[in-house]
Amino acid sequence: MKGYDVNNDISDDRGARQVKSTVCPLDCADTCSIDVTVENDRVIEVRGGAGNPFTRSKLCSKVVASFPLQVHDNLRVLYPQIKRKTLAGCHFERISWEDAISIIYEKFTATKQQWGGESIAPLFYGGPMGLLAGGTMDKRFFHKLGASTVDATTLCAGTSDAAWESVFGEAGGIDFEEIKHSDLIIVWGNNITTCNLHLTKIIREAKKAGSALIVVDPKRIRIANDADLHVPLLPGTDVAFVYGVIYLLHKRGGLDEAFIANHSVGFDAFLNEARKFSLERTAEICGIESSVIEQFARLIAARRPSAMSIGVAPERNRNGSACVRSALLLMAATGNIGPKGAGVCETSRFFPLGGDHLSRSDLCPAGTREINVMDIPRLIMDPGDETPVKGVFIYNHNPVAVHPDAEAMKQALESDNAFVVGSDISMTDSMLCCDLVLPAPTHFEYGDVYKAYGHRYLQRSEAAISPQGESITNMELFRRLARRFGFQEPCFADEDKDLIQQVYESVPDKALIDQSLERAVDMAQWAEPSMLRDDDRSESTFKIRFYDEHLEKVCGQGVPKYAPLSSTREFILVSPASEKRINSTFGGLSQQSTDLVCEIHPKDALKHGVTDGDLVRLKNSFGEVVLAAKVTSNVRRKTIFVPKGAWLKDSATGMTINALIPSDREPLIGGACYYDCTVDIQLAG
Ligand code: SF4
Repeated sequence: MKGYDVNNDISDDRGARQVKSTVCPLDCADTCSIDVTVENDRVIEVRGGAGNPFTRSKLCSKVVASFPLQVHDNLRVLYPQIKRKTLAGCHFERISWEDAISIIYEKFTATKQQWGGESIAPLFYGGPMGLLAGGTMDKRFFHKLGASTVDATTLCAGTSDAAWESVFGEAGGIDFEEIKHSDLIIVWGNNITTCNLHLTKIIREAKKAGSALIVVDPKRIRIANDADLHVPLLPGTDVAFVYGVIYLLHKRGGLDEAFIANHSVGFDAFLNEARKFSLERTAEICGIESSVIEQFARLIAARRPSAMSIGVAPERNRNGSACVRSALLLMAATGNIGPKGAGVCETSRFFPLGGDHLSRSDLCPAGTREINVMDIPRLIMDPGDETPVKGVFIYNHNPVAVHPDAEAMKQALESDNAFVVGSDISMTDSMLCCDLVLPAPTHFEYGDVYKAYGHRYLQRSEAAISPQGESITNMELFRRLARRFGFQEPCFADEDKDLIQQVYESVPDKALIDQSLERAVDMAQWAEPSMLRDDDRSESTFKIRFYDEHLEKVCGQGVPKYAPLSSTREFILVSPASEKRINSTFGGLSQQSTDLVCEIHPKDALKHGVTDGDLVRLKNSFGEVVLAAKVTSNVRRKTIFVPKGAWLKDSATGMTINALIPSDREPLIGGACYYDCTVDIQLAG
């Protein structure tokens, strides 16, 4: 954003120290506004920008130290490089952009001629979250090329989105700031001090004003210290917990019978499933005291309105969609949908931007296959009767650090079975696997538009410094490729300013384009109301689905079902968000790796003779990882916590914990089951 007293014109005074305004592009709910101090075309410092009323001039500590380093440290990729393989090993050699584009053209053209367009796969995720950098020229290029379309939402949030759609359809949730009107706040599987920092203040203020707080999380995360009740569920048992609570409320009172009758379908089937979850059975499955379930039921029955902020943790297991569906349905069963301060926080209704006109899916040949992003290693190494993947293009993503079964991903990318191109800011573990590496700019070096998933403010940014080295944006990269491939459609000539106009196409007031550059725009005025608001609920035909016929047909889950974990290894390995990294971003910076320890409960540590600081070997059939132990009663027994996002250089075994995570799929959309990873442990060395 070009806000208040800042100037983002980079053509003048590059040597002078200036403060410019931008937006944090990382995969984080808060999408903070940032003031960046620049001098001599270098990022000197970042601080919180005042342009966004939700983030209130405060940044998380992750970015303050790391952003300047990310822009200028020696991991930065500054020019195109090709991998040369010799008997002595591999090395990268600098080449020109012209040669790099020609090599991609020749390799992908030959691949397409021999194997068809679907043998090429883009491999992307949520690197920068800007609407231009992902979802515009990149998608157009791969659609026109006839490449396989890839569903990357299976890695994160796709399961939750599908669960939401099953329960609420297209209806939108409540704004996060509405929590201040809630008498009970439930933070469910969402480590907000790490992943949704600015929500913490709102919750603490609500607490001061008399609200109660429940935190549902297997770990005593920091916000749990403020809670009236902490529910330390065993990962993957959320659905059993909800059924236990529902059955208790049914027997003791606390369900909103009128709301259920007027605004939902299928409750009888849901209740029948809940009858299987007695207090005792629920406590046993969830690994908690039955008194915790009773306390939860008492609080949600007594305190209304109640609001929930649910994270992605509940989806990261074999019961993922069932866990999320059941948590959402708990709010409906207790009538906590509609009144002010009641509901589930969710922001999609505030951002009527984007769409097919940006990605141009009409350019995609009819019948082109869609693949689960997690299938790419298999399609490279062992495709069976399916079209193999012979060409891969990695961008906005570090798959070796992020995917389950990371070793399989690494081996596939390093194999001779596919030609792999990668574009990134830094020489990540994934870029090291590539045959051709291209330099990408940081978000300080180009402008973009940012929605948010933790608040309702829209922001736009401009470049604060020049592109470093020979880096070019995704938009320019795929424009150049489209030209080289001879794609004639006018959409491939769109400049960034045209793309920005197209992003805002569905917003009636075009003044927003400039306003969102000046400061964050409150999108409340453009939003559909949240579902079943009091003033229109009596007329509404909208129904919340406790039973979903479609899911019954697709995966036998008309109502959410609980399945036990099949593994018999001693510990569940949980890999939550890090307080040092955003996914794997900043993982290459040494000061951002200091949290790479394994947290273990004191009684489990004692049983295995582990004391604080001891090196512990975590292992299963996929491999092993050695980490220092941190003995803490913040984690529950039979679980081990290791924050995600490590890079290979931080591992003594050449594997990160992602190598231990099986590539099992949740049944609704084939989502990743990161927390179904089980390990045994032993003292190392
Ligand atoms: S990572 Fe999140 S909290 Fe930190 S600056 Fe970026 S958006 Fe804000």
